[in-house]
Formats: sequence, structure tokens, C-alpha cells
Amino acid sequence: MRAAEFIPDVEKALKSRGEPSYRLGQAYGALCGGLIRDWEEATALPKGLRAALSAEAPAAVLELTRASRATDGTRKYLFKTHDGHLIETVMIPEKDRRTVCISTQVGCPMGCTFCATGLLGIKRNLKAREIAEQVFVAARDVAPERITNVVVMGMGEPFLNYRETLLALKVLNDGDGFNLAARSIAASTSGLVDKIRRFADEPEQFHLAISLHTPFEEQRKEIMPVASRHSIPELMDAARYYVEKTHRKLFFEYTLLAGVNDQPNHVEALAELLYHPLYHLNLLRFNWTDTGFGATPKREAKEFLRYARELGLPATLRPSRGQDIDAACGQLAAKDLQARPPRTVVPLSQT
Ligand code: SF4
Repeated sequence: MRAAEFIPDVEKALKSRGEPSYRLGQAYGALCGGLIRDWEEATALPKGLRAALSAEAPAAVLELTRASRATDGTRKYLFKTHDGHLIETVMIPEKDRRTVCISTQVGCPMGCTFCATGLLGIKRNLKAREIAEQVFVAARDVAPERITNVVVMGMGEPFLNYRETLLALKVLNDGDGFNLAARSIAASTSGLVDKIRRFADEPEQFHLAISLHTPFEEQRKEIMPVASRHSIPELMDAARYYVEKTHRKLFFEYTLLAGVNDQPNHVEALAELLYHPLYHLNLLRFNWTDTGFGATPKREAKEFLRYARELGLPATLRPSRGQDIDAACGQLAAKDLQARPPRTVVPLSQT
């Protein structure tokens, strides 16, 4: 159980009242398993204690300011943090799966040129509680159905907030917490090679996805500033370390941008670069944002997929979901900012 790390304010409040130690486990179970948003719902706790906790350490740290639902069933949640920042979360239903895509930072400093979140710059890292609570709210919303998967692909570069992100994932995986299998949880990085190695060394069997977006070095530097710090060969060394250490499949995310990275020579270079039985290419259709990029038309995206498979590269084309509620990373929060702040990209050397 990870209660003391995850809810230190609750632990402190319980200790100051001289409560028995098992109360912390009860509180942790009520938050992470019972999905309560108010201590008054935690009926295992005495009434007086519920009132005291509500005053000293509120159950919910995020305020849900808006929930919207797309015609395809995708749901999007806009949250306000205690210090007034907006973050977003998406829940994607597919047949027997319900996947929650969560954020780990307010904005993102990585500056990927096609990303609406990247345009916001970075405000701050989220705490583990703020990261995990996004899943609790979505789970409460879809109940009695269950959340089956969590992907860390919302706002932010999770490996720049490694400690809090990992704690949140451990709580989601914890049998006394949210109790979701580690293999149903995946983190996505833009390619921080030292953290890819560190993630490979973690004992939990979390999955990993690496955002690649082009197989060409110079083009990657143009659309992903991180590429100026870590070359593609360095990235592929870290990828190989991950699969050799974990023996788990490794996913490469590839957002198809019209006329930019969707040409036959891209497929051919990808087939060479990703030649490994555990590598899998995930093609994503671009949801429109005002970044100046456009989406590859559906027919051409399918042709890209067909050619990749013909060249022996395992690949999947993900459908574009939730477009009528702007369910691409960063879009809703971007729209809700009255005045967009100046773009702040933190040099990677300072992170
Ligand atoms: S694509 Fe991901 S890493 Fe790049 S700016 Fe957007 S949120 Fe950050």
C-alpha cells in the first residue's frame, strides 16, 4: 500500500488526531477503490472523523469544471487545480475497453510543433494525487462499467515528472488502490533516453510508447525539439535496452501529418529503423489544432498502413476519436484559456 506517500496530508491529519494507523488504509481504500469525492461518502470512517478530514485534507484535489461527450462516446473532462490551472483527461470507449488518457503536467515544455499542449508552454508538474484522480473521476463516471486501460498520453511529458507519475501509476496498479493490472497501464514519452532506461528497470510491468513521428533525424529536430538532445540512434539504443530488459512489446507513436511525414520514403525508413520482433508502429490520425499542420486523409493513412505491413512492419492505424469535443491532446484546455500565455519552452538542460 502506498497511502503514506500518496496522501501525506491525510496521514498528517489522522496522526494529529491520534487516530489508529489502520484509518490511513481505510481512507486510501475509500479514495482509490471506493472513488469517493467527499469524505462524507466514506462510511467506514466515523462521522466526526469524516467532518475533520473534510476540513483539513479534502478528498478531492481537482475540481471537475466540465465533462463533455462526443457522438462516438468519447468523454472529455476539464479539471481545475487548486491553484487555478486547467488540465484535461479523455476517456475512450472501444468495444470491451474503456481507456483513460491522463495528463501529468500543466502544459508541456517539450515544444513539439504540431501539438496544442506544446503551444501552452509549461506551468508546473502535477502531483501524483492529481494524476491518479483523473482516472478515479472517469471510473466513477463510467460505473458500473470499469476502466480497463490507462495511457499517460495527455498534457505533458511524463518522464519530466518521473517521480510523481510513477507513484500515480503504482497507486493505480496497487491491489489496495485502484487495482488495475500493470500491463493495462502505458506511459508515453517523446524520447528522454535516460528515463526510458530507468522505466525499463522498474519492477512493475507497465508498457511504454515512444513518440517517433518521423524516421529522419533532421525532420525530427524540426518537429520535436527533444531530437536535438537525443539523436535517433541514441533513442533506438534506449529502445533496445527496454525490450531486452523487459521482453515487452514497445510501441512507437506516429502522428500522420499531411505532406510532412506520410510519404512512401517514410514507410521505407520506418521499416528499417523498427526492425525488431517486439516493436510495433501505432499510426495516429491528427486531430486538427491551430498549429499549421493538417491531417493525412483517411485513404492515404490506410495506404501508409498497408505499405508498412507489406514491408513486414507490425502496425496499427488508430481511429481518430472524439473530434466533435476536440479530444486531441491539449485542445480543450487550450480553448479554455482566455488569453493564451506566451509560449514558454524550458531548455532541456534545465529539466
Ligand atoms: S506531443 Fe507530448 S511531449 Fe510533445 S509538446 Fe505535446 S504533450 Fe509535450
